[in-house]
Amino acid sequence: MLDKLTPAQEEALRRARTHLKQGQEKPVGLGEFTRGGEDRAKLVDLLGTLMGETRLARSFTIPDEDVKVKEANSKVISAQIRDYTLNMDKASKTITHDCGDWERAIETRQLCKHIGKVLLTIAEKTALEWVTAIHEDLDSWKFQQPKK
Ligand SMILES: [Zn+2]
Repeated sequence: MLDKLTPAQEEALRRARTHLKQGQEKPVGLGEFTRGGEDRAKLVDLLGTLMGETRLARSFTIPDEDVKVKEANSKVISAQIRDYTLNMDKASKTITHDCGDWERAIETRQLCKHIGKVLLTIAEKTALEWVTAIHEDLDSWKFQQPKK
């Protein structure tokens, strides 16, 4: 289930990549995937590395209205995705999240589609700071579930 994309998900990923390529040649006016130009391309690349392309493609299929970002700055990210919560703290390098895929992610150390979606929703500059920090030192980040 985690390895195979539906045709819709493949299409979403293909579209994202196509727009990115076009975006590098012509950074203005090509819609949502090229907003921010270079930063967005870097962000999508790093997310692909941290999540795997399959999950990243799934991130693109989560509707914007399912995501409520309460706080997103250089120090903390706090968001709700449908019934799930996400809290990220940069000082303590902690990511706390509660979806089913995240239980496995704690072992495999890959970000889930919800985290991808939040990082694609917030300001690109901020998202890039986070993704770069996680990518540079993945082993020192703590992947946690909320205390019940
Ligand atoms: Zn999740």
